[in-house]
Amino acid sequence: MKALSLILSILANACGPDFIFNNNTIGNGSGLGIDEVFHEYVATFESYTKKQVTNVDMVFVTGIGGQTIGQCIIQGGDVNQRRLIKIDRRVWDRGGENIREALIMHELGHCVLNKEHNSGTRLLGGTLCASSIMHPDMSAILPCYGEQRLNYLNEFFYGTPW
Ligand SMILES: [Zn+2]
Repeated sequence: MKALSLILSILANACGPDFIFNNNTIGNGSGLGIDEVFHEYVATFESYTKKQVTNVDMVFVTGIGGQTIGQCIIQGGDVNQRRLIKIDRRVWDRGGENIREALIMHELGHCVLNKEHNSGTRLLGGTLCASSIMHPDMSAILPCYGEQRLNYLNEFFYGTPW
């Protein structure tokens, strides 16, 4: 429980930009690959999209900057360039399954589906929930993701309102 409250205090302030066009050169086909820890989440993503994730590298970092816990980088905004997703290992290690999946889907949403943020919310049983995995503040997703996971995924992949 202590760990959870620590995470929530980090996430409650999550407001840093996590979707950026980077003009620095990472190198096309940087070859970093996808950390094997992320494979099961990428497999879930692929099973919904029916497409393989091929042009994305996914790595752990320790700290991204500010309160940002995940980041999708597209070089120069060029859609043909490889993407890089950074995930803060400290949050990953402390967080549960819900935040892990929601965070990976969020960043793949930016990097693969070219999704932008959606700040919509709804009140469910007295809890304010993000309406979308693409909400910029993960703390608005987390309290609701466990029970509403399928609604979130259907909205994310198919645009199904809920
Ligand atoms: Zn984002």
